[in-house]
Amino acid sequence: MGLLSLGTPLEWAEATKLAAHIRKHGIDQFLSVWRAAKDRSGDPVLWGDELEYMVVVFDPVQHTARLSLRQGEILRVLQSAHSPLFAALPAAQRPTFHPEYGRYMIESTPGEPFSASADDLLRVELDMLRRRCFAKQHLREHEVPMTVTSFPRLGATDAPFTDPALTAGGDAARSLFLPDDLINQHVRFPTLTANIRKRRGTKVRINVPIFHDTHTPRPFVDPTIPHARNTFPEDSEAALGAALPDHIYMDAMGFGMGCNCLQVTFQAANATEARRVYDQCTPLTPLFLAITAAAPIYRGYVADVDARWNVISASVDDRTNAERGTAPLRDEPKHNADTAPRRLRKSRYDSVDSYLYPGAPPEDNDMPLEMDLSVRDKLLAAGIDPLLAEHLAHLFVRDPLVIFSELVDVDNTTSMDHFENIQSTNWQTMRFKPPPLGGHIGWRVEFRPMEVQLTDFENAAFSIFVVLLSRVMLHFNTDFYMPLSLVDENMQRAQQRDAIHTQRFYFRRHWAPDAESTERIGEYTLAELFWGRDAAMPGLIPLVRRYLDELALAPEQRAELDRYIAFIGERANGTLMTTATWMRRFVHSHPQYKHDSVVSEKINYDMLCTLNKIERGELAVPDFLPPWYAERHRTMERTLGVPSL
Ligand code: ADP
Ligand code: MG
Ligand code: MG
Ligand code: MG
Repeated sequence: MGLLSLGTPLEWAEATKLAAHIRKHGIDQFLSVWRAAKDRSGDPVLWGDELEYMVVVFDPVQHTARLSLRQGEILRVLQSAHSPLFAALPAAQRPTFHPEYGRYMIESTPGEPFSASADDLLRVELDMLRRRCFAKQHLREHEVPMTVTSFPRLGATDAPFTDPALTAGGDAARSLFLPDDLINQHVRFPTLTANIRKRRGTKVRINVPIFHDTHTPRPFVDPTIPHARNTFPEDSEAALGAALPDHIYMDAMGFGMGCNCLQVTFQAANATEARRVYDQCTPLTPLFLAITAAAPIYRGYVADVDARWNVISASVDDRTNAERGTAPLRDEPKHNADTAPRRLRKSRYDSVDSYLYPGAPPEDNDMPLEMDLSVRDKLLAAGIDPLLAEHLAHLFVRDPLVIFSELVDVDNTTSMDHFENIQSTNWQTMRFKPPPLGGHIGWRVEFRPMEVQLTDFENAAFSIFVVLLSRVMLHFNTDFYMPLSLVDENMQRAQQRDAIHTQRFYFRRHWAPDAESTERIGEYTLAELFWGRDAAMPGLIPLVRRYLDELALAPEQRAELDRYIAFIGERANGTLMTTATWMRRFVHSHPQYKHDSVVSEKINYDMLCTLNKIERGELAVPDFLPPWYAERHRTMERTLGVPSL
């Protein structure tokens, strides 16, 4: 969550009247930045991760694991630098914590961004672990900050899933399953939730295919949906077709925005380089979703998908019926000043729709781009090239969702609020981040598809690997361009159950820029994409290793980096299973599991306890993490001065 303005948010009916104003001034704000920073160059390679946690409360007597709603109190403690541990640290190492959408979520980032030197890459895991230990030290005895992507029983109706227990409902989400009190208490978040629902005209509809086990009824018609409730007009939606048979139905923003992820932001030397890295990263996004898949259970049911992406996409889908194509456009009000009512193909949380680098092959930009034409024309008139103008005009087809009355009229030369309002609610697989006004921060690119991993070893490995790839792209001038329509197809494949073993992904053959262009695209397994298959498809890992060879690192440093890379390779070829697969197996082998797809409170408790033990290095799972994980974890904890168990 980028922007957290303070003030009085406007009701949707009022906000919508100001949408054109926000868009107009938002683009003027972008133009201010562009004029100031378009020629900015020579910024150093800097990068940083964002790690999201959910705070779980374990009750070892009742055998329950529930979500703590103490976000506010926890953040007040974690954000104040009063602890001796904190004060003793240099600024670069001071853990930084931020709020997130769920009132059980926190996010951490490094005290200062890292460089891409081997020294810095090899600090990342310890830095992540320091943040986790710091958070743990400030939580209550049975609270644990867990980097789990989706809470398996979020929205289950047979037993509480929050601590304290709450009743579902509330005027923001009007959910049958989630209480509004589960949402971050900052007024921005309930307002965002309500305005998405109001703009859309119904509650959001999320249907994830259920995993049909041997005792799961066919068709599966969820008996736990409280159809009888009659609090809000929307309560009847589930019975009237919103809840699909054979699916796990969810009806609120919290189901998606309440998931945790791992994001990495890197700075480029200048705007053009940032656009190049953005493009080269885009075809990689589905591969990293598949390899980090960690979200196979929703509302207490095992799903037939392994990852969160479609859930979160649907959870903030604010498009009207006409925009989604389920009602005639003639009934649709005009949303944009110069654009007729139009269909919108995707949710505001979805995959990238256009390449940005001026050298991108036009035929690979094969997605029809809905645009706010007044925005595009203004940018073109200001001398901005078509690709960037169209990218922004595409982001600006969306309405601003939360407008604070105190911040409607701002100085466009000193504020980015209106630009950020639209930019930060376009949640795509990649984000192109312009420099903040007047600061020391340059053009950046954010890599957003990954699911958060259980341990900091894994989170560090994936972050480091992605950062190395961003260097490799520039160093070897790689050419990963492929049609964006196929990247989208890959996004769907990436979420399939056990994608590593069951799916092939479209990918570019011949990665060198001057390579022959016959048969540009092949279909590959993740193992082939990471390890390479033949001369035409060299593989990401060999490419990273070639880059490291050229750096001629000290042997110990190289060995440490190779450990992370080898781990990524073992996930890619299935030697080590994904978190999603581990969770499925755990449920299936639990003595109380009835092979009916139901994840009971007890199974949930045992699973989260076990995950916690694995993270702490108390339980070795050699087909999930490398065999030396536990020992390494303990050594790192000793380095940090964490008392042994
Ligand atoms: P958002 O939530 O908007 O994506 P955050 O502020 O939560 O952004 O995270 C941004 C990440 O970018 C952090 O890890 C931070 O360390 C990192 N970062 C900060 N400054 C720079 C910079 N100049 N270049 C690259 N990354 C940076
Ligand atoms: Mg976040
Ligand atoms: Mg963040
Ligand atoms: Mg981010």
